[in-house]
Amino acid sequence: MIKLKNSEQLELMKKAGRITGEALYLAGEAVKEGVSTLMLDKIVRTHIESQGASPSFLGYAGFPGSACISVNDQVIHGIPSEKKILHEGDIVKIDVGAFYKGFHGDSARTYAVGKVSEEAKKLIEVTKESFYKGAEKAVIGNRIGDIGFAIETYVSKYGFSVVRSYVGHGVGHELHEDPEVPNYGVPGRGARLCAGMTFAIEPMVNVGTYAVKVLSDRWTVITADGKLSAHYENTVAITENGPLLLTEV
Ligand code: MG
Ligand code: MG
Repeated sequence: MIKLKNSEQLELMKKAGRITGEALYLAGEAVKEGVSTLMLDKIVRTHIESQGASPSFLGYAGFPGSACISVNDQVIHGIPSEKKILHEGDIVKIDVGAFYKGFHGDSARTYAVGKVSEEAKKLIEVTKESFYKGAEKAVIGNRIGDIGFAIETYVSKYGFSVVRSYVGHGVGHELHEDPEVPNYGVPGRGARLCAGMTFAIEPMVNVGTYAVKVLSDRWTVITADGKLSAHYENTVAITENGPLLLTEV
């Protein structure tokens, strides 16, 4: 069931979204060669807790980190580690959630570590732009399928593929609510969008095949062919005035 948010709840979602976006921004600013993914995780946790919120992912189904931090062919759900050091040429995805006064925010970005390949640069750019192609369709009266169709159409123009086994999702009192928001779809299909819906649009885009697998740590999702993957996510509210990006700071 899709839970619509009233204006009071939306105000709290805006705050949770702002804290999420700030934590992500601060971690992104710290991305450089030699930094461990655990260090980035600490930045995320420190900021979230300083705002009177708590990291949504910490302890979620037993997840040990405050952020999911995934490098290169890791798609999502990478576990922060002191041993995972960033190197020049890597791309790193940081995924953050903050829980504030009963509501979550959820957002992710992909960062380049120093100078990266042209292919990596293009992937990061196309993934970000595909988010906006999808978000443009997040207006009252459209359907969920319109969002995914716009994302996949854009991504495939560049020869990249969208991950199909993981999708966007409603965000609110729960981190994952209805509806599912796939990064592919059929225009005019799926739930009709109406004011008060809040969900994460989050294209995960691979250079090669869309197929993924899960590592033996039972969390880290990697591309099946070992090629690069990028991620871009915001929590979006559907309003009378168009889509509102709650986690963009
Ligand atoms: Mg996320
Ligand atoms: Mg999400």
